[in-house]
This record gives sequence, C-alpha cells and structure tokens, in this order.
Amino acid sequence: MNVEDILAKLVHFPVLGGDSNLSIIHWIKEYIESFGVATTLVPNKEETKASLHCRIGPAVDGGVILSGHTDVVPVKGQAWDTDPFTLVKKDGKLFARGSADMKGYIACCLATLPTLTKADLKKPIYFAFSYDEEIGCLAAPELIEHIKKTYPEDATYAIIGEPSSLEPVIGKKGVCYVQTEVNGSAGHSSGIHKEISAIHESTRLIMWLENKMKLLAQEKQDHRFEPPHSTLHVGQISGGVATNIVSDYTRFEWDVRVIPKDTIQTIFDDFFAFCKEREEEVRKLFPGFKIINTLLHPPVPALDTKETDPIVALTKKISGNNTWRTVAYAAEAGQFHEAGYQSIICGPGSIEQAHRANEFTTQEQLDKCVVMLQKLVVEFSI
Ligand SMILES: [Zn+2]
Repeated sequence: MNVEDILAKLVHFPVLGGDSNLSIIHWIKEYIESFGVATTLVPNKEETKASLHCRIGPAVDGGVILSGHTDVVPVKGQAWDTDPFTLVKKDGKLFARGSADMKGYIACCLATLPTLTKADLKKPIYFAFSYDEEIGCLAAPELIEHIKKTYPEDATYAIIGEPSSLEPVIGKKGVCYVQTEVNGSAGHSSGIHKEISAIHESTRLIMWLENKMKLLAQEKQDHRFEPPHSTLHVGQISGGVATNIVSDYTRFEWDVRVIPKDTIQTIFDDFFAFCKEREEEVRKLFPGFKIINTLLHPPVPALDTKETDPIVALTKKISGNNTWRTVAYAAEAGQFHEAGYQSIICGPGSIEQAHRANEFTTQEQLDKCVVMLQKLVVEFSI
C-alpha cells in the first residue's frame, strides 16, 4: 500500500480522544506484522484501549523512536464540506479528520516498512503509537515505561510527528488544566457582612493567579517562546443564583503553561498554599468554607531540546529544513523529553489545519515525510 492508501485506511477509523482505539490499533498491528515485524500492545486497565510499540533492527543502544497518536479531536459543530472520516483528494490536498494531526505521520511510518525491513540497520528504529493524546497526553507515560521495560537497550532519540510542516520543533511549554471549586455560605445579600461569598473568595484566588503570572514574567524569560514567560489564565467561571443571594458555590477552570525554566508543580504548590491560608482565615467566620482544586489531567511536561543536541542536526539533515522553532500546543514530545530521550517534533501537515473543519494535509508533505524517513533509514544503516 502506498502512503495515501494507508492514510485513507487510518482516517476511516473515527477514534476520538477518550474512545476505544482497538479498531485502529489492531489494523495497524496486523499491517506491521504482515512485514514480519513483531509488535507489542500496551492495553489500559479495562482493555478497551491500547498503545503499540515495535522495534525494527538490531538490539543495540542508540535507536530512534517514531511516535504518533491514533486518536483525533471531535468534528461536532464543525462545518465540513466532505465526510470527515473519508479521505477526499482535491488539488493535491487530502481532506479528513486526522490527516494532519496526526495520522499522516503514522501513514508515513507504515509506508516506510518495506524499506525498513529490508535495510541493513546498524541501530534500531522503533514505532510507538498511543491513544488519548488529544485529551491530555494520557497514554504516553505508560507506553514509554513499557518500551523501557521491553527493550533493555536504550533508544537515544524520539521524533514525534505532530504536524509541523516538517520543520524541526525543539521546544514547547508544559501545560496543565485545573478546576477550582469554592464553597461559601448562602444567604440574603443584605447580610453579606456575616456570610462568605464564594464569588468574592474566587476573585481573590483569580487575582492571585494573575499576580503570580506577572511575577513569573519578571523573574524568568525564555525568548524561544512567545510570550517568553509562563502564563496563567482563567478561561471559565460559573457561580451565583441571583443578585440578592450570596453565592455559596463558584467554580472556575484555568490553565498554566510553563517555560522549561519553571515547573508546574512549584506553581501549584504556591497556589495550594495560598488556598490553605485562605481556608484557615475564612473558616474562623464560616467553618464550612472549602476550596477544592482538581487537576483535569496529569501535567504535561515542557519540551526543552537544546539547539546543539545531535537530534536537531539529525532532523535538519533528514528533513531538509535547516531551521528550528518552538510551538504553543501540547504534545507527547514533553513526556519523551522528560523520560530522557533527545526529542523533537517534526511531522507532515500544518498545525494551522489541525482541529478545524476541512482539516487537510498535502500529497507533497506526505511524500516529503516518506523521503525524510527513508533518509533516516540510510543514516541508521551507516
Ligand atoms: Zn496531535
């Protein structure tokens, strides 16, 4: 099968983040095994989802992991001109959900199998395909751990094929989404002097977050990123029943995005300490006062590859793009970086098209990516 046929097959599985991905992962497994390559599945506890990894080439240190995710974002509410789960080709563009983010890259990896399995590889090339990336990069940590356990030989590099128009991406901010709930006391607004408004208390917390961002911006900067500092932002808030009722419950959701010099946990520790302080203070007046913080997913670490790391030179060489940049979106690259691999994002298609109606990649990008992976095979055969 050529890369386009494989992509057509892959986009036909409408696996959204959170859904069972067994249909697509079993198809991929059978496809890889038809080339005589053994694969390993890493199922979740309920066995409703699975990641897959395999190794092609010798059992020696120094290999490279090609990483992709099998889930996509929803199409609900988007105005598509064609069926999002059928690959439609028009003027060199290939339309479908996941064509760019990021089944295009998986299709390129699979299309390289005939070359890979015939090559005289001196160092191994691994595939690592996950699920539930789009809802917080949930499966990658277990997949990475399983790879380390399965193969005692250490891979050195990881190339994560998120759509980057095949430009090497060496940095991204770490990210985490948080929900904060505040429980106050209900009552008539005229009695606010003896009640605790959850809205008023939430405002203090939100102002703390904003001030924290200002402090972080003064303290540390990394000019590879725009803005060059860590950010905190409240994106949703709800609470209150009526103007004349003291609000007894407020909920807001916020995100933290950190440059590699900052850590998400340190910011959380500071915020949680402030919450505790407020609780102790307010409980003197109303013992039922509570602030509950819930992480909406485990924190996704930053990607912080140095310009001088060998993975950058390697990716520049095989991609033909002699530049590097950073991105704003979350990706499993941060988790591979944290696990000790020199990691880089470099994949076909543009992030501009990802997550939108009429998502597409181009035939040219796919062909270039296949060439890139073939060059990688040559590099690893020398
Ligand atoms: Zn993606």
